[in-house]
This record gives sequence, structure tokens and C-alpha cells, in this order.
Amino acid sequence: MAAIKLDNLLALQAADTKRLDLEQQLAAAPRDVAAVEAKIAAEKQAIETAKAEWHGLEAKKKSLENDIKTAQEKAAKYRTQQLEVRKNDEYRALTHEIETMETTIGGFEEEELKVMYAIDEAKKRFADAERVLKQNISGHEAKIAALRAHEKELRGEHEKAVAGTGAARAHVPEPQTRLYDRLAKKPGMPVCVPVQGGRCGGCHMKVSSNIEFEARKAENIVTCDQCGRIVHWRL
Ligand SMILES: [Zn+2]
Repeated sequence: MAAIKLDNLLALQAADTKRLDLEQQLAAAPRDVAAVEAKIAAEKQAIETAKAEWHGLEAKKKSLENDIKTAQEKAAKYRTQQLEVRKNDEYRALTHEIETMETTIGGFEEEELKVMYAIDEAKKRFADAERVLKQNISGHEAKIAALRAHEKELRGEHEKAVAGTGAARAHVPEPQTRLYDRLAKKPGMPVCVPVQGGRCGGCHMKVSSNIEFEARKAENIVTCDQCGRIVHWRL
């Protein structure tokens, strides 16, 4: 029997490995784009959060201003009433009401100061968040564009690799392609492995001396008795 040529089978495996590698890269491509898009979304969210906080504080300030106004009006009303009362105890009671109102107003004003300070801080956070996005957005967009361009390139390469695999397959006789396809599914790539030092290059188990001998002769397709992969001799 003439020595079989594994070259074509190895060429098929090389083409197939390239194809599979490109498929893996293509599968990862949308994830890479999604990761950058998630960064943009997070930066936009930070702006929205800061804005909502700031606007919430502005509303609180407005509400405090209304409270102050209401309290001031009440105090003014008591003062007017005071001008009209004749009895001392009524006058004192109104003085007490006015003092209470003034304390209340003082409390509101103190709170308003705190809110104003918090507004400044929130505005700063909002501006910072906006600056971060503004600084990064062109970088993010460039990254997405580069990733998309790379994906397009990969698609082109993949198309070529598929054609290459087809061409390589045409040089391999049918029983071998069938065995190859079965092994490519299980145990999986690589299908053709060297046997070196008596060990299978796929599962790394020791093969029988007969398999080693047959692989060395290279007259037939020889498979590993452990994993079933096609083994070829290598010094
Ligand atoms: Zn093996």
C-alpha cells in the first residue's frame, strides 16, 4: 500500500482552524461594541442622575421660599393685629406668635442656605458628569467605529476562510472528510495531531506501540486509541 498523504488533511485542518478562529472573533465583536455602548450609557446616566438631584434641590428651595413667604405674611398679619388690640394679654399673645413665626422663618432660612449649598454641589457634579461624557464621547465613538470596521474586515476574512476550507476539503477523499467532520464535533479540534514520544498530541495519553508503529509507517489513517483523533508521526 502506498503511503497516505496527510498533507491535504492537515491543510483542511489549518483552513478550518482559521475559519473557526474568525468565527470566535466575530462572535465577540458585538460584545465589544456593547461594552463601549454601556460605558456611554453609564456616563449619560450619571448626567441624568446629577441633573435630577439638582432639579430636586431647586424644587426644595422654591418650596422653602414659599414657606418663608407664608410665615412672613403671617408675622405681618400679627403685627397689624397688634396695632388694633387693646388688652395686654392679647398683645402679649400676639408678640409670642410673632416670635414663634420669626423662629420658624429663621429655621427655614437656615435650611434654605443648606439647600443652596447642596445646589452648588449638585451643579458641580452635573457639570463634571457632562465634562466626562464630552471628553470621552469622541473616543467612545471612534472605538465603536474601529470595532465595526474591524468586524467588517473579519467578515471579509471569514468569507475567504470559508472558501479556503471548501477548497482544502476538495483535496481530501470523502471517507477522510467524514472522519474529520465527526472528530471535529467530538472530541473537537484539533482533529489531526502528532504522536510524539509515544503520546497523542490531542489527549496527551500514551498510545499503544502498534499505533505508534502504524503512524510511523503512514500507510493508513491511524487514530488514537484513547480519543480517536487522527495521529501522524513526528520525531
Ligand atoms: Zn488521543
